[in-house]
Amino acid sequence: MIRFAPLCALALAASTASAELSAAASAIDITPDPAKSTVWIAGFGMNRRATGVHDPIRSRALLVSDGKTRVAIVVLDLVGFMRPHVEKVRTRCGEAADYVLVASTHNHEGPDSMGIWGRTPFETGIDAAWMDATIEAIAAQVIALTAKLQVVTIRAAQIEGPVKEFVCDHRDPVVIDNALSALQLVCADGKTVASIANWACHPETLWSGNTLLTADYPGFLCARLEERLGGTALFVSGALGGMMTPDPLKDEKGEKLRTFVEAERIGRGIADRAVDALAKAEAARDPALSIRTRELLLPCTNPRFHVAMAMKLLSREIFDAEGKAFAGKISPKNIPWVKTEIGLLTLGPLQAALVPGELFPELAVGGFDGSKSFGADLVKKNNPNPPKIANAPKSPFLRELLNAPVEMIVGLANDELGYILPEYDFEVNDKSATLEPHPPGDHYEETNSLGKETAKRVMDGFAELLKE
Ligand SMILES: [Zn+2]
Repeated sequence: MIRFAPLCALALAASTASAELSAAASAIDITPDPAKSTVWIAGFGMNRRATGVHDPIRSRALLVSDGKTRVAIVVLDLVGFMRPHVEKVRTRCGEAADYVLVASTHNHEGPDSMGIWGRTPFETGIDAAWMDATIEAIAAQVIALTAKLQVVTIRAAQIEGPVKEFVCDHRDPVVIDNALSALQLVCADGKTVASIANWACHPETLWSGNTLLTADYPGFLCARLEERLGGTALFVSGALGGMMTPDPLKDEKGEKLRTFVEAERIGRGIADRAVDALAKAEAARDPALSIRTRELLLPCTNPRFHVAMAMKLLSREIFDAEGKAFAGKISPKNIPWVKTEIGLLTLGPLQAALVPGELFPELAVGGFDGSKSFGADLVKKNNPNPPKIANAPKSPFLRELLNAPVEMIVGLANDELGYILPEYDFEVNDKSATLEPHPPGDHYEETNSLGKETAKRVMDGFAELLKE
């Protein structure tokens, strides 16, 4: 009976305030200290030890509520955050949110959060104490936001983002999803509570030689959004698979500048375009908030992942094809399956597809006719093994399935399954346990992918989710 009164009050508040949206946001520092413990930097090769900190690695969180449903959106400056870790965050958040989304920017200049970038292929790169503390800190961050919710209105905008000297495609066919979408939540006094920008490009401007922890261009991007709009900014990585990478300016020898100056130029450039687009946007009238999700069971055929799973470097539960606990020894005839989730988030004029990995942009926008190549050849003339475009998937692509004034593709949402690439262009060297050397042409991404079937299962999942 003691619990009855407050529950009753909550239900009443929900029914009278259902037309209002409220929000709160914060950013916290989750940077490990390389002076106190060994920090392995994720992305590129193994054995890259951090020697210092250039700028903080952060967890950025936004809590939104329509009085009935509370959704937390958390974005981490990390290479990826796998579903078992996301589930731990969710458990610790308790009733603070009905749904917690944890996405990563896919930062290639931050601490290893997946386990595969340690000193050697046989040692995890995750500092377990840091990971535990980070999970606790993210949950505490979300819980603290429940006491800070303020009524807000939404502005949202979507434009074509810049390409040249911002992003390029390293893998044929050249297809760039250059949509730049942005959202701003403003309270009654005109102050911004939070903003979100969404664009697709690997956060790896500093490249493989850098040993200072940094959030790369998304850190500068968020700083610029906060400078111009106020509040807390979040940056969400889109369909950055195969292979959206920064296109920094070059030095006099024609070498790409892998500098903080360039990371800042790219981050600020994207942020400024997002803010300018938001300035022209009308406040949305409908504060609709909803989330729909679907669990997917996906086969893992990648022998490199099999080794990492067998060695518990990739710390996730594995299953059989029926979704029961995996039994026996992993082998090509007894492959592990993984459970993940996709989702669809609606927030006012925004519809966001939650993708559990690195979606190839061609699965988001098509572009097999060269309409998304932005002046580059669709296929390089010297490609020794060009993709067979005639076999490429047909419409509808993910952005065509979505149907809202402003769309976001949230990459690395609630998981990081690696690259999600179309089956017609999936080629591996299956005579090698490491999959290397990969087949001629552009086929690196297959070596960091669950397997051939992932894309179809994910795309079919979205088609079904959008029919519900
Ligand atoms: Zn990647």
